[in-house]
Amino acid sequence: MTDSKTHLVAVVGAGPAGLFAAKKFADAGHRTFILNRDIKPGGLAEYGIFPNKHAMKEGLRKQFRKILETPALSYFGNVRIGGGGDLTVEELRGLGFTAVVVAAGAQGTKSLGIPGEEGEGVFHAKDLVYHYNDLPPFSLRPFAIGQRCAVVGIGNVMIDVANYLVHYKQVGEMVAVARRGPAERAYDRREMKHVCANLDRAAAAAEVERIADRLGAVGQDPAALVAALLEDTPEGTVPEGPTRIRFRFLASPKRVVRDAGGRVAGLEIEENVLVAKGDSTAAKGTGKTEVLPVDTVVFAIGDRVDPSLGLPYADGTFSTNPVPRGGDPEPSLYEVYDPAAKRVLEGLFVIGWSRKASDGLVGKARQDGESGAKVVLAYLASRPGMDAAGGEAAAAGVDRRLRERFPRAVPKDRIPLLEAAEREEAARRGVPFFKWPRNEEMLAAIERRTSPLPR
Ligand SMILES: Cc1cc2nc3c(=O)[nH]c(=O)nc-3n(C[C@H](O)[C@H](O)[C@H](O)COP(=O)(O)OP(=O)(O)OC[C@H]3O[C@@H](n4cnc5c(N)ncnc54)[C@H](O)[C@@H]3O)c2cc1C
Repeated sequence: MTDSKTHLVAVVGAGPAGLFAAKKFADAGHRTFILNRDIKPGGLAEYGIFPNKHAMKEGLRKQFRKILETPALSYFGNVRIGGGGDLTVEELRGLGFTAVVVAAGAQGTKSLGIPGEEGEGVFHAKDLVYHYNDLPPFSLRPFAIGQRCAVVGIGNVMIDVANYLVHYKQVGEMVAVARRGPAERAYDRREMKHVCANLDRAAAAAEVERIADRLGAVGQDPAALVAALLEDTPEGTVPEGPTRIRFRFLASPKRVVRDAGGRVAGLEIEENVLVAKGDSTAAKGTGKTEVLPVDTVVFAIGDRVDPSLGLPYADGTFSTNPVPRGGDPEPSLYEVYDPAAKRVLEGLFVIGWSRKASDGLVGKARQDGESGAKVVLAYLASRPGMDAAGGEAAAAGVDRRLRERFPRAVPKDRIPLLEAAEREEAARRGVPFFKWPRNEEMLAAIERRTSPLPR
């Protein structure tokens, strides 16, 4: 990096993708600003990963703290970019950033579009996950969970929801509803271990038996699948609390049934058969329906990006350059593209779950952030830059403007104060970890350790 190649880079979002990418920009000598909706950094590592995975979460926090200590890196929490937020992407670009890198995760929810899904008693897994991880404002929203819950989806997020229903809500029954069969389950065995004690062995075996013909028709072995489902739930396993977890395979939700008072009274499903599709299988409806008697439905079927961010958007994702340019990483995958104007929006990039929603674990988000960072660094190298002193002066100007415009923004030197206050509160309450559920309370905790932030 020569002295004449310093740029200002904005990263929208401080989840794993944004943080690890920002580190690459700062290390390459670019003055980097992270603008994050949440006061605290970490994204889903802080507010998605199950609360009792303390060691994993703390390990990640340690890495994030270290990143924020990077001198060329500025952080402003409590600043939302995009429609209805504090600053539009265009306004952000207008502050003088050569590149704006969107790492805002996948904040939109996915649903099935079935009748009855709007309203009380039907929830999106991410909203619930944010709730039990104490992310404002979800932390304060009531989630009236009943006693018989259907969770639609059969991946790791379904397991997290099951973990919550078993260990925090002690519901009577949870049924995981899957379009296909047990062979197509998408959760990891390691994750299942958190709730396997509550699997209803007899019900799982009976469910596979019920669909044995349909599994056999595509060459699947029902007995082996029962064994796989129950591999960590040997005979005699004592459940942790009252919850029984069951599966309902080969079932596509068609309607949320509501009673006269609007309360959820069931989930109507259509029975499916499996059809071979290359190396995989697909579900095909049979027209036969049944109502599962449940009082709560949770969709755990992945997320989509948030179109209100203001980037070109189609089918749950932001539009990226459809024309491969060649390279490793392939630059087009990270370049934002305007299909209406048929052109790449120069200097605008997406990484992590903002590029590909609900794609993998923290390690994958990091990898994607760092791959995207390589693409962005190559772009920056192709643009005229400033010398180091010019970069510092420009950064100081942006810093001043952001502080003036967003007096309630939380800069990086205040995050350790908040964390210290949380530790103190946790010790006072005798709990392993504590978070305030309101932004105002977090800001007040910071203020108690510094001078007041303006009201
Ligand atoms: C329920 C659940 C459980 C998970 N459990 C695990 C696990 O146990 N282990 C594991 O390795 N991975 C787990 N993951 C996956 C992991 O959390 C993700 O891979 C990773 O967090 C994605 O990183 P990201 O940076 O792309 O997005 P995110 O982590 O979602 O970060 C996005 C960031 O952008 C900010 N933001 C959003 N909108 C705006 C805006 N408009 N303006 C400014 N900032 C904005 C948010 O505040 C947030 O900080 C889990 C995911 C979920 C959903």
